[in-house]
Parts: sequence; C-alpha cells; structure tokens
Amino acid sequence: MNLHSRRSDWSLAIAELKDRYGADAQTGQSALSLHAGDESHHDRQSPGVVVYPASTQDVADIVQIAIRYGIPVTPFGAGSGLEGGAVPEVGAISLDTSRLNSIIEIRPDDMIARVGAGVRRLDLNKHLRDTGLFFPVDPGANASIGGMASTGASGTNAVRYGVMRENVLGLTVVTGTGEIVKTGTLARKSSSGYDLTRLFVGSEGTLGIVTEVTLRLHPLPDAKSAHASFETLAGAVEAVTAIKKAGLAIGRVELIDQPLVEVINRRGALSLPPLPALFFEFHGYASEIEGLASTIGGLIEDCGGTPLIWAETQAAANLLWTIRRDCLAWAKAERPGAHSWPSDVCVPISKLADVILETRNDVATSAIPAYIVGHVGDGNFHCVFMLRDDEEDEVALYADRIVRRALAVGGTASGEHGVGLGKRDFQLEEHGIEAVRMMHAIKATLDPHNILNPGKVLPDL
Ligand SMILES: Cc1cc2nc3c(=O)[nH]c(=O)nc-3n(C[C@H](O)[C@H](O)[C@H](O)COP(=O)(O)OP(=O)(O)OC[C@H]3O[C@@H](n4cnc5c(N)ncnc54)[C@H](O)[C@@H]3O)c2cc1C
Repeated sequence: MNLHSRRSDWSLAIAELKDRYGADAQTGQSALSLHAGDESHHDRQSPGVVVYPASTQDVADIVQIAIRYGIPVTPFGAGSGLEGGAVPEVGAISLDTSRLNSIIEIRPDDMIARVGAGVRRLDLNKHLRDTGLFFPVDPGANASIGGMASTGASGTNAVRYGVMRENVLGLTVVTGTGEIVKTGTLARKSSSGYDLTRLFVGSEGTLGIVTEVTLRLHPLPDAKSAHASFETLAGAVEAVTAIKKAGLAIGRVELIDQPLVEVINRRGALSLPPLPALFFEFHGYASEIEGLASTIGGLIEDCGGTPLIWAETQAAANLLWTIRRDCLAWAKAERPGAHSWPSDVCVPISKLADVILETRNDVATSAIPAYIVGHVGDGNFHCVFMLRDDEEDEVALYADRIVRRALAVGGTASGEHGVGLGKRDFQLEEHGIEAVRMMHAIKATLDPHNILNPGKVLPDL
C-alpha cells in the first residue's frame, strides 16, 4: 500500500470521482457487488466506487486522482478471470473498461485490428465476419480484449495461432504515474527497443491500465472436426505429439478425461466409449485435410486410439465444440450446491502424460469430483474440482500439489489464467528470488505509489 495513503482520504477521492464523472462513477449496491470479484473461488471484496471511463484521457485522470488520495485502482474487464485478479481492495476503485468499446480501425490488408480495451472477443469476431479474417484467441468466456491481454489469455486455438503474447502488436497503457504510453507499431515484427508490449501483456493490471490494443488477425481457415477415444490418457497425449511431429496442421486439440466423457454421455449429448477422448479441428484446404485423413488415423491407431469419427456437417462440428465448451458446466450441475475450482498448469509436452496421470491418481483419493480437460497441444491442462464451500481447504491441498508437480518437471504455475491472488505463493519457487526482485523493481518504476491492483501477482519479499 502507498505509504502516504490514508483510508480516510478515500471517501474524498470517491466524492471527487462522482463530481467529475457523474453517473459514470457509481456507488450503488448492485454496481459494487457486480465488481466485487470474478468467476474464481476467491473471496469477493466490495470496492467503494465503480468508474466507467470513456477515453484514455479519462483513465489517466482517474489515476491522477488515485495518486493524490493514495486509493488503489483495480481494472475490471468482463470479470471472467479465474484467479481473483479483478477482486478490488475493499472500499477502493474498480475501473470498468466496458465503455472503452470502440473498434477503432480494421486494416484488412495488414491483417490488423485496433480496438478499445473493453471490446469483447465475440463482438470483434462478429464485426470481422465479412472480411474473411478472425481473431483466434478464444478463452471459454466472452472476455474483454484488455482483460485477455492483461492475463496473457489463450484457449483452444493456441496450438495453431499462439496466445495473446503472440497476437498483440501494440498497446496504449496508462501507468501508475498517470502517464500515457504507446507501445509497438503496425509492423508484424520488430527488433527495435525493449519489448514493452510483452511487459504489459500478462501483467494483470499491476503495471498499467490498457486502454487500446493492436491485434494480429488471421485468415479464416477451412476446418474439419473429428474425435477419437483412447485406451489410455498417455496414448491420447502421444497421438497429439505424433501428429504435431509429422507437421500436420492441428487447429485445435482438446483432451477430455474419462469421468468427463461419462458426464457427456449421461447428458445424452453424444454417445462415446467410456474412455479418454480427443476432440480435433484440422485446418487447411478441405482437399488437403481429406488427403491427410488416413495418415492422421494411422498415427492415432498406433497410439491406441479408435478410428477418427469425422463431423460431416457444420452442425456436427458445432455440436462437438459446444460440448467441449459446456461439459464442465454439466459436470457442475450434477453436484447441487457445487462451484468449480480449475487448476491451470502447463508443462513440457514430453512430461504431460505423466503429470496428468499422477494428478488423476492423486485426485482419485478424494471424494470431491474432479475432471481433467487439456489444451494438450500446448502442454496445458486444467483439473477442475466441483466442490462445496466447506471443501475449499481440501481442494487447496490438491491444487497446490498439481502446481508443485508441474514446477518439478520444468513447467509453470499458470498456463493461461494468470497469477492474480491464487498463484502468488508459487512465484518465488517458479522464477527464483533474482527474477522476482527484478519484477518488484519494474513494479516500483511503473507504479511507484503502488496504486495499480496492489496485492496481485507479486509475492511479498
Ligand atoms: C467458463 C470460462 C472459461 C474460460 N476459459 C479460458 C481459457 O480457455 N483460456 C484462458 O486463458 N482463460 C479462460 N478463462 C478465464 C478468463 O476468461 C480470462 O482470464 C480472460 O482473459 C479474462 O478477461 P476479462 O475481460 O474477463 O478480465 P477480468 O476478469 O475482468 O480481469 C482479469 C485481470 O486483468 C486485469 N484487467 C482487466 N482489464 C484490464 C485492462 N484493460 N488493463 C489492465 N488490466 C486489466 C484485471 O485487473 C484482472 O487482474 C475462462 C473463464 C471462464 C469463466
């Protein structure tokens, strides 16, 4: 916390914000409770005010007010985060980016979009529909582009198109000193200067508030979906490695473990063998994919897989990916009163099968239902617990062990959800004291008053 901040001053800051922003600075109960947290299991905390800036200059002015009164500011995108990153300090400012929602410019020939931080990813893709282009990063929620940049988000398409770090070309950011900084260019690559864009991507609102984002777009691919079941989880992971090594273009590949396959079957959404399954989407020209079908099928069979079942219509493909999107919600619905706690680790692909199997064996010792889904092409998987409120302590132990298992094989505590509140305690173990000290030094330079989302990402030293 800012050494000079006095909580008694915060009410003066809130009064000044209300005076300046009128209806765009809200203190009503519904606005405060909507901004008290995100979709994670972390405790919610009510801000004192929710401000809705309409421009980068508004954001800079809000930060100046925050500096003057020593009141923390936590950016809020869509609130779909899974590690408590958008939980504000009690009584402080939640800065909602939803009014920064203009699609500033689409440059089809450059395959670039410039958008406000509050634009939602599905709205951007709807806007791009007639251009033949799309923005591929696809977390399961309809997140804001600013939130996605700030968490370093990814999703099912990452195996082919990369994550936010690869798809953000530049940013406009307001730092903790209230300065407006522009990073990056419209060029698709650059060797010029320090890479400030990637410093802010993944910084979760602790170094700056993103107001505009320049994004890399991609041509909409021809795609064909399919699924296969596997005798073992290890076989499923080996199949993905074999297909990737053969240079075949996987657009998406998602692992669904046996307990979750059984949920899908109980739901009647599809009738699958009660075995681990992979859902695939192959990208390329239709004729190219058809030509490769038997090679891909052969590699899968070598790894103990069933013959691939191809989605022959667009409706069948849509069904497959709707199932992938919704199956965890169905699993949660099977346990009344449960909420979900998704772990999120990423490991070297050669270690993925071992880490998943050890995790599966470990969670089998608990009565709390747990399901594993994985963006296996990247080595990223989630073990999702469906727990009741009084089971949090038990799940915390399992979740800690999952992270430790990942770190032990050279992996990371978070593949895509970020650090927020939940993974702070692992930062020293993952990065080492020297790197964490360097992170603190960067934080002190860009946010010397410690007003930007304090208490997130960095562990105390
Ligand atoms: C059902 C479901 C499925 C999901 N699937 C995935 C998935 O597959 N992959 C994945 O990566 N994530 C996934 N998520 C998590 C979530 O969607 C992502 O973390 C997303 O990037 C959060 O965006 P948001 O706009 O909701 O950000 P918020 O939750 O509002 O904020 C997240 C963090 O970013 C900060 N922030 C937000 N906006 C800004 C800004 N403009 N400037 C600076 N900081 C900012 C916040 O302070 C906070 O620290 C899923 C979530 C749900 C609920």
